[in-house]
Amino acid sequence: MNYALVTGGSRGLGAAICKRLASPELGIIINFRSNEEAAKSVAEEIRANGGIAELLPFDVGSEESVDAALEQWEDAHPDDRITVLVNNAGIRDDALLIFMQTEQWHKVINTTLDGFFYVTRRVLKGMLTKRFGRVINIASLSGLKGLPGQANYSAAKAALIGATKALAQEVAPRKVTVNAVAPGFIKSDMTKDLDEAGLKKTVPLGRFGEPDEVAALVAFLASKDASYITGEVISINGGLYS
Ligand code: NAP
Repeated sequence: MNYALVTGGSRGLGAAICKRLASPELGIIINFRSNEEAAKSVAEEIRANGGIAELLPFDVGSEESVDAALEQWEDAHPDDRITVLVNNAGIRDDALLIFMQTEQWHKVINTTLDGFFYVTRRVLKGMLTKRFGRVINIASLSGLKGLPGQANYSAAKAALIGATKALAQEVAPRKVTVNAVAPGFIKSDMTKDLDEAGLKKTVPLGRFGEPDEVAALVAFLASKDASYITGEVISINGGLYS
């Protein structure tokens, strides 16, 4: 059985991606950090629709936690493999740089960038051996344009884009593709405290995006139809920035 691992699959974009990717041919591994109830409800919805879903809690920013969880999964699934990895787990902790605490800087970089490194390094081995894989990194408009108050988040996402482009070239000979998706404003817990009414006026399409719209793009990149796309950053932002 082939599986997709979605980090931060319990809520928001990750939950929509889990539901969208699920099929009888592709089981879903729902990673999360602490919100087990939300992760369980994603799994139940997938199972109710005939899919296969498992929970795999770990902190993407902890090397030990990532390695222990994935080792345990591999031991329990000797005949299965992870063919799709969506590095989606992310946090924001905004402050103007002059006021930013050292901890705010490190924890945002840790989750996005160290998380990408620890999880991808672990999962890539199986993809390279089997000569097939899809890695999809959830970046952000903030990593392309830079947003004031988000120097930590913009830096983490910009670095993720650099890593995407480098890794794509490393693993292309083994038919593993690596791409990034850069969403603008999407409705989720991460954006619920923003002034949606005011901000949506800045978006040419006049609204925030839905998690499922991002999930549809991720599902395309994960599909066989996207075999010749690698090292790309695809914006999905209602025309806000290109
Ligand atoms: P969200 O609603 O806040 O959900 C975040 C998810 O990440 C949750 O499932 C959370 O798990 C998980 N998570 C956080 N830290 C983790 C860690 N250390 N280890 C494992 N899982 C962790 O956020 P979202 O809006 O869906 O964002 C998803 C991704 O899209 C992020 O990378 C974000 O930067 C990116 N993005 C979002 C937007 C937007 O407008 N929403 C725009 C651009 C990019 P728990 O439930 O256990 O806490």
